Amino acid sequence: MHPIMLITGASRGIGAATARLAARHGYAVCINYLNNHVAAETVRADIEREGGDAMVVQADVSQEADVLRLFAAIDRWGQLACVVNNAGILETQMRLEDMSVERLQRVMAANVTSTFLCCREAVKRLSTRRGGPGGSIVNISSGAARSGSPNEYIDYAASKGAVDSLTLGLAKEVAAEGIRVNGVRPGFIYTDIHTAGGEPGRVDRLAPQIPLQRGGYPEEVAEAILWLASDKASYTTGSFIDVLGGR
Ligand code: NAP
Repeated sequence: MHPIMLITGASRGIGAATARLAARHGYAVCINYLNNHVAAETVRADIEREGGDAMVVQADVSQEADVLRLFAAIDRWGQLACVVNNAGILETQMRLEDMSVERLQRVMAANVTSTFLCCREAVKRLSTRRGGPGGSIVNISSGAARSGSPNEYIDYAASKGAVDSLTLGLAKEVAAEGIRVNGVRPGFIYTDIHTAGGEPGRVDRLAPQIPLQRGGYPEEVAEAILWLASDKASYTTGSFIDVLGGR
């Protein structure tokens, strides 16, 4: 059995690209998704067609019971090696004074609580202090954590700032227990997430402001994630790779 990599939100976008690349790197991939069963099964079929191993698990990673069910499914499958906390949402572009408390709670639950819960369950299984084999965690943050996303989604940006702090703290907490924890900060990547913000063409609008003069592709983010997850990054923890096209 190959080492297992759990990728949350792997039915589409950056998560799906990471799942396909992970399988080519020899991981058995657990493809988590929220609603889009067909898309998740398509990723699984792509992996299996190339001779890889994958399983699909529906779970809302903002909900503790679902996260426990997700990790229990992995336990029955084999030994976890890596977790990529990729699932994330943003909502319609607006100024802070127009944001409802329900929206703030949804964004924080989907982006922050989910990452905390999955990191917790990963540490329980990977930590050498608890008899585990060690492993690595990659948290997907955003360039928004540093820009703050004014007039678009400060809530989303702040949720990614929380992911960065979690990554820094947890990296130090578990460094002596065989677990590395790192982050990737994508910039303007061609995925469906911008439609959720109300502007499907956002990446093309902003492309002239990006030093590389174009948006990025999910596969380009996946390369950074796979490197940080792998033993090639054996002396790297508490670090971030910006995949921002030079911004
Ligand atoms: P996307 O295309 O909108 O895909 C989101 C994925 O997350 C889908 O697989 C979705 O599942 C899943 N998901 C959402 N909420 C979930 C939940 N509560 N539980 C389980 N799965 C959930 O997003 P993306 O652009 O690839 O973004 C991936 C990550 O990169 C996010 O953390 C995002 O914040 C970050 N990021 C993206 C960009 C960018 O420009 N695209 C830039 C910076 C950071 P369903 O298919 O079932 O809905």
